[in-house]
Amino acid sequence: MSKPSPDVYERGKGMDAHNEVMRRIRAQKEAEYDPHEPTRVWIDEDNTPDGIYQSLTIILNTGGCRWARAGGCTMCGYVAESVEGGSVGHEALMDQIDVCLEHERENADEKSGLIKIYTSGSFLDEREVGAETRRAIAETFADRDRIVVESLPDFVEQEKLAEFTGKGLETDVAIGLETATDRVRHDCVNKYFDFEDFVAASEAADAAGAGVKAYLLMKPPFLSESEAIEDMKSSVRRCAEYAHTVSMNPTNVQRYTMVDELYFRDGYRPPWLWSVAEVLEDTADVDAIVVSDPVGHGSDRGPHNCGECDDVVQKAIKDFDLRQDPSVFSEVSCDCEATWEAVVERERSYSLPLAR
Ligand code: SF4
Ligand SMILES: [Zn+2]
Repeated sequence: MSKPSPDVYERGKGMDAHNEVMRRIRAQKEAEYDPHEPTRVWIDEDNTPDGIYQSLTIILNTGGCRWARAGGCTMCGYVAESVEGGSVGHEALMDQIDVCLEHERENADEKSGLIKIYTSGSFLDEREVGAETRRAIAETFADRDRIVVESLPDFVEQEKLAEFTGKGLETDVAIGLETATDRVRHDCVNKYFDFEDFVAASEAADAAGAGVKAYLLMKPPFLSESEAIEDMKSSVRRCAEYAHTVSMNPTNVQRYTMVDELYFRDGYRPPWLWSVAEVLEDTADVDAIVVSDPVGHGSDRGPHNCGECDDVVQKAIKDFDLRQDPSVFSEVSCDCEATWEAVVERERSYSLPLAR
């Protein structure tokens, strides 16, 4: 373990131990990829402030997140070591966009009104996506209605977003805030920024006529089930003041992460789907769209209940995403709710996890 240096304390981050562990874990994975192909692309439906849209979601392959290179977040399996030189050039990135447009032509009857661009990092970080590419992408999608681009708060600037809003696109920045509680974000997620940085980014977005979509993470490691629920309830409420949409997502166990190491040693269980439902129901009155997309639901490595009711609870969550009506949750029940209630009542951060 590295010796914490005064510098680290000076910066108020105190994260070098977490980062060293994360670098060691990530180094076990050998990443190889083709810079002319996107990481993933798919067509879906999304609830936006203007209603439900067909969406084209693009995960661009940009060479990865700067923070992941330093060590990165405890639950994030995206590996940052990358193509030679550590970045992907303009031509290759535009090739990736072409592959996505081709995918859309083949798999949808019409052009998607909503485009969502993620990079497993920051689209607005010019080390990942240069200004030339960013402008060319704005031009490519100028005929759509809405666009979402993912970024850490540091890179959110009014001028960059104005390139999209100036084309008449309703523009949103997707920010992985994870939680509104600084202590949980620093110590459990190992993410370096503060809530006030998120607020500053939302102000920059607002000045450009853009909006914010905040991403929250339910149950990072070291929190008990009840602490995770409380953290999310207060985070949804605090975020809703700055974001028109809050996407609250339960942690799933990705390979080559600290969460995976804990899980492997019986020290981590992803949240119950009942907990997700509880937070959505409790915060249904906030002035924002609140959605959740439990990835890997029903599996051991994903958010799960008893195995019997996972699909129906997941379906209720997806219904809630589209309709924002908390009564969907009163229609689902299962015997395992009693076990979940006991876990919420009795699990402590020193006895994790109380039940699998
Ligand atoms: S969660 Fe985001 S900021 Fe954290 S390491 Fe992964 S890509 Fe980077
Ligand atoms: Zn059940």
